[in-house]
Amino acid sequence: MRKLEKPLDDPGLVFLTCISRVKDIELKSRLTSIETTIVNAANEFETAASKNMVHTIKPRIDLDKIVTKQELLDIYTNRMVKKDAPGRSIYEKLLNLPVHGRCPLCGQRIVTTLDHHLPKSEYPELAVVPTNLIPACSDCNKIKMNSIPACAEQETIHPYFDDIETDLWLYAEVCEGSPPALKFFVQSPDSWDIVKFNRVKNYFKIFKLSGLYTSHAATEIINIQGYLSDLLSRTGYKGVSDHLSEQAKSRESAYLNSWQTAMYKALASNIWYCSGGFKE
Ligand SMILES: [Zn+2]
Repeated sequence: MRKLEKPLDDPGLVFLTCISRVKDIELKSRLTSIETTIVNAANEFETAASKNMVHTIKPRIDLDKIVTKQELLDIYTNRMVKKDAPGRSIYEKLLNLPVHGRCPLCGQRIVTTLDHHLPKSEYPELAVVPTNLIPACSDCNKIKMNSIPACAEQETIHPYFDDIETDLWLYAEVCEGSPPALKFFVQSPDSWDIVKFNRVKNYFKIFKLSGLYTSHAATEIINIQGYLSDLLSRTGYKGVSDHLSEQAKSRESAYLNSWQTAMYKALASNIWYCSGGFKE
């Protein structure tokens, strides 16, 4: 996961901006009257997300007496996502948060949408709350769907509130075969408690990152095969291992838990691979 700067937009102002062009006076009046409820829901979400307590948030069913769920969902669809909608600039701002447009959840694919951390179908009051909206690729968005965490360990990592970039947790091991392959897994740093470890493992599993990284690594293994073959004949096992270690260091300085860092570390320390296993 890639950490993102938490958006500081005022949730009440975002909500009022989105509904600013509602022409129906009666609807506008009802929507305006729930602004405080939206702000309270946003504050409750923010506090919970910062303490890994999102699973304790209950949907505000009392809102049903004033506005329907569909009316709230329409605000997101028609007044935030739609081109030229009053909330569109906020939508685009959130969409453009990640560097190079890369999805913070998988770290691989391109951002195409916003994912509701707590699904809007169950929590329509959070439909246009900025901290509940995470830029994501469509695959990650679909994978997560309407899942709601039942306990702390089921809470997927939130790029605005969780930081798992500074601790090393992603590892790989070489599957010695023809062709060689990489298997990726999560290991807990000493400083993590069991809940944090299980959250990251759960996140890794839900977003199917193991298979995604294995697939990318398979392509990279083919790409470096020719160079390693030449290097082995000139410098032997040690030259290959040293070269792969240098590659690992360079990638580690860019991103500690990328599949590339884990892959090059695993390759560099595998005697079979460095002795010519890459030719298999
Ligand atoms: Zn993604």
